[in-house]
Amino acid sequence: MTELNFKCAKCGEIIKADDRDVGKEGACPACGEKVRIPGPGSSETPPSVPPSTAVPVALAAPTAPGVARRPVRETSGFAIASLVCGILSLPGFMCGGFILAIIGLALSLTARSRIRNEPERWEGDGLAIAGLVTSIGGLALAVLALLIFGGMLLATGGLFAALAKAMGTVPPH
Ligand SMILES: [Zn+2]
Repeated sequence: MTELNFKCAKCGEIIKADDRDVGKEGACPACGEKVRIPGPGSSETPPSVPPSTAVPVALAAPTAPGVARRPVRETSGFAIASLVCGILSLPGFMCGGFILAIIGLALSLTARSRIRNEPERWEGDGLAIAGLVTSIGGLALAVLALLIFGGMLLATGGLFAALAKAMGTVPPH
């Protein structure tokens, strides 16, 4: 057997195949696109590809031609995590919601850029947007809570100062 490498026409992934499988069809392991394994003399064969970087082609099983291919796109874990952080940051604005919201924001932006860069690999943009919205909501609540508590603290401080002043000016009996 001789190993032969060829490029996926859709995503450019280097795919490894056996020369006995020339002409057969398989699924690209990177994007799932149907690929036909070209002959060794084909112009599609890059001659200088080291075999170690190539991935073996997933040959279509001849016994089960009607079986649906499993989806190649994967929901981005970053998108899911951003939504979880965003949701948790909403009621958690009293204790650590601020930090959760910041993490959710960062995760959401990471997820969205990954999905934008590799749309054939990642999905979950809707989740990432939901994560973004809930994180911004959590952040807004945290800022609001900070303003309220800050205001209360200032008011209390002012009250104590006024009390102390009043007590200081009370003439002794
Ligand atoms: Zn491909």
